[in-house]
Amino acid sequence: MKRLLMLLMLLAWLPVAAQAQEKAKPQQILFVNVKIFDGVHNRLITGKDVLVEGNHIVKIAPKIKTNRMARIIDGHGKVLMPGLINAHTHLMVTKPFDQAIYTYEPSYIAALATEEARRTLMRGFTTVRDAGGPVMGLKRAIDEGVVPGPRIFPSNAFISQTGGHGDFDPSMTYLSSYFAGQMDKAYLFGWTYTADGVPEVRKAVREVLRSGASQVKIMASGSITGAHDPLDVTEFTPDEMRAIVQEAKKWGTYAMAHAYSDDAVRTAVEAGVLSIEHGLMASPETLQLMKKKGVWLSTQCLNYSKNVEDFGVEMPANVAAKFNEAKKSAERVFRLAKKYGLKMAWGTDTFGSLDVQDTESQELTCRKKYFSDFEILKQATSLNGELLTLSGKRSPYPDGALGVIREGAYADLLIVDGNPLKDIAVLTRPEQTLVLIMKDGKIYKNTLQEKH
Ligand SMILES: [Zn+2]
Repeated sequence: MKRLLMLLMLLAWLPVAAQAQEKAKPQQILFVNVKIFDGVHNRLITGKDVLVEGNHIVKIAPKIKTNRMARIIDGHGKVLMPGLINAHTHLMVTKPFDQAIYTYEPSYIAALATEEARRTLMRGFTTVRDAGGPVMGLKRAIDEGVVPGPRIFPSNAFISQTGGHGDFDPSMTYLSSYFAGQMDKAYLFGWTYTADGVPEVRKAVREVLRSGASQVKIMASGSITGAHDPLDVTEFTPDEMRAIVQEAKKWGTYAMAHAYSDDAVRTAVEAGVLSIEHGLMASPETLQLMKKKGVWLSTQCLNYSKNVEDFGVEMPANVAAKFNEAKKSAERVFRLAKKYGLKMAWGTDTFGSLDVQDTESQELTCRKKYFSDFEILKQATSLNGELLTLSGKRSPYPDGALGVIREGAYADLLIVDGNPLKDIAVLTRPEQTLVLIMKDGKIYKNTLQEKH
């Protein structure tokens, strides 16, 4: 009798166990009836389904069989493509730099940045390389699934010399020296790290990497928006720059450098910096050196195609003058980069207000002056994905490729109404044209009718 009871109990338990096992398997989502742009090739692949399991793409083949719990999404013949990547954002800089750091409460800036992260994802950007700002907390909340937003490769605090682009004049904005000492808020809240001399820059790199940065962002020249520095100034000595690169390398990652003047770009490239931000005034010889060394050019079209008044914020006269000076070189650097076949990143550097950040996607169409729709799409997907691999073991997302549709890649996917290979402008109207947005296997938007 006892044995029979045990047998009955076992039989009752078996289907439950089977169900539990089914549930423990990662969720399958199968995309059918889609045309695939894989981020790499200048064509649309037809006749293949894409199977997502958990947060990865696991199979791309005709007529894939799924388990019975799978969800099937019919793309109605629309284009399935990798999520976009922006290689130069400042998610935290939702007000002009000085105001973001000194004027407003950190929680207000963080609240705006949280909204900016959501909008970034809704524009189809599933990954960003954040080029500076205290973004770790936001990244944590996104990665935990608490708030929607892109994957973030954080640079955290800028590393700058005294009087350099990251030195945001604290003289009138000290916190109470009684309670906080003479601590600059820019440093206190992780916006910037001012360091001079080899020992100090080594310490700065170590601290920034300790904070969780996936690469370090250094200020190698004067800037447009900096408080003090004229555009032509070279910042950091070759010795300092080499020390920075060496420290980053020891952590298995790299340095990206803000640099405008030819001297600054050359010094950075010779020291081993692997990504030049802006680079507008680099000479043909320096650009060819970048080509030879495989250094990425991460410059921007949209920003420099604007006029001073288009930014919607009041620009001090000296800043406006520096902006107009830089603007003159933008077209030249794009044409030369194309001519020499440089590794082109795709980034926007749009910051200062949510409205300005909303123009992010227009960088896609701005580049049509220099590149084909396919070349631009490739920059914003697989090429940026390749750039991000420079973070090596410091990559926060090391378990799959980004910016491509390939077996084993992360499931960061968009379904687009329209063909971006023919007309990239469809991606500048994401509210209408992005019918599905998936990041890390999770669907954040879906306006398609599904089969059940
Ligand atoms: Zn920037």
